[in-house]
Amino acid sequence: MLHKARRAGLSALVLEAGAGVGGTWYFNRYPGARVDIQSMEYSFSFDEALQQEWRWTERYAAQPELLSYANHVADRFGLRDGIQFNTRVTGAVWDEERRRWRVTAEGGESWSARFLVMASGPLSSPNTPDFPGLGEFQGAVYHTARWPREPVDFAGLRVGIVGTGSSAVQTITTIAPGCGELTVFQRTAAYAVPAHNGPLAPAFEARVKADYAGFRERNLKMQGGFGSLLPPNPVSALVASEAEREARFEERWRTGGFSFLGAFNDLLLDERANALAAEFVRGKIRSIVRDPDKARLLQPRQTIGCKRLCVDTGYYERFNLPHVKLVDVSQQPIERITPRGLLSGGREYGFDALILATGFDAMTGTLMRLDLRGRGGRPIREKWAAGPLNYLGLMIEGFPNLFNIAGPGSTSAFTNVMVSIEHHVNWISDCILFLNGAGRETIEATQAAEAAWVEHVYTVAKRTVYLTCNSWYLGANIPGKPRVFMPLFGFPAYAAKCAEVAERGYEGCALSA
Ligand code: NAP
Repeated sequence: MLHKARRAGLSALVLEAGAGVGGTWYFNRYPGARVDIQSMEYSFSFDEALQQEWRWTERYAAQPELLSYANHVADRFGLRDGIQFNTRVTGAVWDEERRRWRVTAEGGESWSARFLVMASGPLSSPNTPDFPGLGEFQGAVYHTARWPREPVDFAGLRVGIVGTGSSAVQTITTIAPGCGELTVFQRTAAYAVPAHNGPLAPAFEARVKADYAGFRERNLKMQGGFGSLLPPNPVSALVASEAEREARFEERWRTGGFSFLGAFNDLLLDERANALAAEFVRGKIRSIVRDPDKARLLQPRQTIGCKRLCVDTGYYERFNLPHVKLVDVSQQPIERITPRGLLSGGREYGFDALILATGFDAMTGTLMRLDLRGRGGRPIREKWAAGPLNYLGLMIEGFPNLFNIAGPGSTSAFTNVMVSIEHHVNWISDCILFLNGAGRETIEATQAAEAAWVEHVYTVAKRTVYLTCNSWYLGANIPGKPRVFMPLFGFPAYAAKCAEVAERGYEGCALSA
């Protein structure tokens, strides 16, 4: 956004809480942190020289390499002098008279801005459950999303980990061999498909780079903005014979990653089709995990893909290590943390270090924690009390000239987020240039457009299996959070709609002179 704004001749300043660039890849330094979209796709497309010259070492890049990439981009485009680091924004208030945002940060520093772009991320406010006694634990406590910069040595230690989502799956897989004992506290079993990660094949890299622009174009036509190399099989799982089904599932399992959910074209649309894929994965878990009790507990029961699918590098295999224990806390929740461990079902489990892999207050958490006030001083917390009203995921009625990147109401959570970010940055920049060209001072979504958009997001979700489980897409992972389905499924239709809105002079928006 900063690069784009500068190229458009705008003056811009980035306020960043971290001491460096990278966002997700700056804060999530837990062992095994790795992207779940292939590196050749999970990168910026806006500069041909950048994408030609950068060399990924692995099929799925790990956090240190992703952080190097973010730093490389910042240096290559000379962005650091436009970023104020170690600056945590606490709020922003719309000044109606001056038609400017007054942005404030910890320490009291403040800025005035005509436009305010929230690039604060859909998964950036960690969720720390309110476990009684957490402060009394005598060992170290880590949250995967706030991992220390120095490596943590668990050698010989008894470690407890709460959670089995993507962050936990990667952490467990990585630390299990070196721990003295690892106890996994599982509330909902996760579906994980193999990444089959490895060094990036030079021939594959050369093939992509020979026509990188074409590769990006083809990916933009995919529902998630990635995966054009192996598009979904255009066949229903319900009409395929059993042998055909097994063959297709097996083929995708061997390929790895999210391509598994494209084994048939209705796995995310029809619960009966979905059940067939789910049973295939349960069969894989049974064949990998030797202890029948662990194997039973590790087999998920919910629809597959409803919570975001995990992409792993030997997760289930780790449960064959005798010192890796699995405790089911679905029926008997964690009652409290004790000085030496935790209590569940009246039993105390002891450990020396505790890892919380308990996710995020997703999509809305970061904005809702701010003192963000729009027209008439209305707080975002009030505006969004029943769920995140928005238009195109980009704008909020009553919050003029504020844009949200990768927020609720957009496809960010279902896409290669790099694609979503670039799409939003281009749209926002075009919008600002349009306003300047047309001599308009402000833009704001109308209430009617916003209401219709939220309804549209829900209507699309109803055609999928995404409403059948308690996911962070629904806000269901945070006690008391309104259950509203927040992300939109389907990038190409979304991008077409955003383009159409712009072409029609920002239809659904109120513009002031
Ligand atoms: P998550 O998917 O929300 O997982 C959080 C885990 O903590 C869940 O297993 C949850 O159980 C458990 N949990 C939360 N509160 C609990 C409580 N009070 N008691 C017991 N268990 C509790 O969070 P995440 O793993 O950090 O991942 C979030 C998202 O970030 C992912 O879906 C993905 O989009 C992204 N991510 C991607 C990667 C990658 O592979 N590139 C890696 C990490 C994260 P329930 O399921 O029962 O709620």
